[in-house]
Amino acid sequence: MQELTGAETIVILTGAGISAESGLGTFRDKDGLWTRYDLSKVATPEGFAENPWAVHDFYNARRANARAAAPNAAHAALVRLQRGWQGRVLIVTQNVDDLHERAGSTGVIHMHGTLEGALCAECGHRWPAPAAMSPGDDCPMCHRQETRPDIVWFGEMPYRMEEIGAALAGADLFVAIGTSGTVYPAAGFAAEAARAGALCIEINAEASAAAGDFARRVIGPASRAVPDFVAELLDQPKRKDAR
Ligand code: NAD
Repeated sequence: MQELTGAETIVILTGAGISAESGLGTFRDKDGLWTRYDLSKVATPEGFAENPWAVHDFYNARRANARAAAPNAAHAALVRLQRGWQGRVLIVTQNVDDLHERAGSTGVIHMHGTLEGALCAECGHRWPAPAAMSPGDDCPMCHRQETRPDIVWFGEMPYRMEEIGAALAGADLFVAIGTSGTVYPAAGFAAEAARAGALCIEINAEASAAAGDFARRVIGPASRAVPDFVAELLDQPKRKDAR
């Protein structure tokens, strides 16, 4: 890897693959969630309008799984990177679990929302999600019964895109971890960061659909590949100082 001083800005994009070894299913892999559920029924505004009970059941089950899961070595390594790197380390995740936060990461951007949030579709009020949500739940603010999970569904605009765009424009290093590179706009982040001059690296179990946008690819399970990569990064400035 080209020499880094430790002061560079790093943007990390994570996907379902980083949580796979915590026991949370990915979407598109063999046996992934989309092979068992119809995406158009559980992850679209139209599916929710048609059968809000089924959609709440789906996310209630996802929430229970996420709460029972624990962060793995890859989440922990990113905490070490955030604490040990002098420059800014921003984590942008497509994941709706909270394993980055439970590992100890801070300032994580959940561009696709979070299982831990409830959202009133009428007034936009947000509050912590209970273990089980249902279409009859009252909004604590406007008291209407239009409660939905605070999840960005297909066809909806991901959260905090302006902030993410600014971070990509200022990134020196962009690292995508455990994402298939098939869901836009996240799938276009590597190309965007590369255009702005960032070195782009992919860590994934296999080369992703966006693999051509990366200058370097690390193929392997996140729980091993991410700690190794973080150790290499944190070691670089020290090696330079020692010369
Ligand atoms: P995806 O299922 O499309 O792709 C996962 C990628 O991770 C694949 O390329 C796969 O090869 C790789 N992978 C699988 N196991 C791995 C491991 N142990 N180590 C490293 N890589 C591994 O997921 P995506 O790209 O994140 O797709 C985006 C959508 O998936 C988002 O909408 C996101 O909200 C959703 N999602 C989130 C969760 C979660 O919150 N844990 C779970 C499933 C899906």
